Amino acid sequence: MVDFTALAVPGVQALRPYQPGKPVEALERELGIREAVKLASNENALGPSPRAVEAASQALRALHIYPDGNGFALKEALAERHGVAPEQITLGNGSNEVLELIARSWLAPGRNAVYSQHAFAVYPLVVQAVSAEGRAAPARAADSEQPYGHDLGAMAAMVDAGTRVVFVANPNNPTGTWLDGEALERFIAQVPAETLVVVDEAYAEYVEQPDYPDPTQWLGRFPNLLVTRSFSKIHGLAGLRLGYSVSSAAVADLVNRVRQPFNVNAVAQAAGLAAIGDTAHVAQSVRMNREGLRQLGAGLQQRGIGFIPSVGNFITFDVGEEPGAVYERLLREGVIVRPVANYGLPTHLRVTVGTAAENERFLRALDAVRQT
Ligand SMILES: *Cc1c(COP(=O)(O)O)cnc(C)c1O
Repeated sequence: MVDFTALAVPGVQALRPYQPGKPVEALERELGIREAVKLASNENALGPSPRAVEAASQALRALHIYPDGNGFALKEALAERHGVAPEQITLGNGSNEVLELIARSWLAPGRNAVYSQHAFAVYPLVVQAVSAEGRAAPARAADSEQPYGHDLGAMAAMVDAGTRVVFVANPNNPTGTWLDGEALERFIAQVPAETLVVVDEAYAEYVEQPDYPDPTQWLGRFPNLLVTRSFSKIHGLAGLRLGYSVSSAAVADLVNRVRQPFNVNAVAQAAGLAAIGDTAHVAQSVRMNREGLRQLGAGLQQRGIGFIPSVGNFITFDVGEEPGAVYERLLREGVIVRPVANYGLPTHLRVTVGTAAENERFLRALDAVRQT
């Protein structure tokens, strides 16, 4: 028998695949229950923008035509949104794809990438898939101002001549912690000009802190900077897979070389374009999230459950023990949350902000679980 595992590239041999949140249908099928709620994948509980849904259904009529491989209209709109040239935008099948394209363009055996402990799980995956070395910098202390958040000093200390990429999540998932403009700008200035700094802003639109930065403003000064954004979170289009990056035109040109010619489908392009114009949907999503964070935070506090203060659309809370039993019992109550042991948080669970009714359902389920 051929041992195909031994024949795979070393990085892939050791790879453990990304564990997505459990789908509602899977839970209902397994437990024979109905009306389960999924608060496990940081999706927008408000749903997609109605304008995006309308544009997507229009696009269905032309499914026999290949998508615009250059995403002309969508790139124009995104360039305008960020005040950059369309050549600085790279579209991805989710921002995850952009992260992967970056790894394929800059990383290889003998090169390394730096990220923080407790950072988004996709960074180590894309690094390892190309057999490069991933370096996780120790995070900030549990009792610091940004518990478990990125320690930019520790990250900078891990950068050496072999570091081609640094991943910074702002805010970070699953901690919900964030970095202010002054700290982030100082960090980017400190990283060698030969190292690409990727700032992942999947949750940027939710953040209301006054000193939360817009690093696309710094692209003129930092040609080694790349910012990623997603349509999966605030725009509610996770099912369509659409994300993008903003960078220097030179960096975008390189990422484009490894991109598949039609990586972003026609329906996603049409829906994304409409979603950008739907500022009312974005504003309503921000409002609902602000209220949901408050509701969940107050509910957890009342119950004496510790949590990491979050600026995203999720809260990671501390069960105080290995959380497998609590997770399973919440499932039986019809509420799906997310274990985060794979993020180095062995006693925490993450809950996504839902509608007011869903948040209440989660808190009630937590009560039921704690009484038994
Ligand atoms: C959800 C998420 C993404 C977005 O992924 P998509 O591929 O755009 O759906 C990117 N980064 C972080 C930190 C996330 O949590």
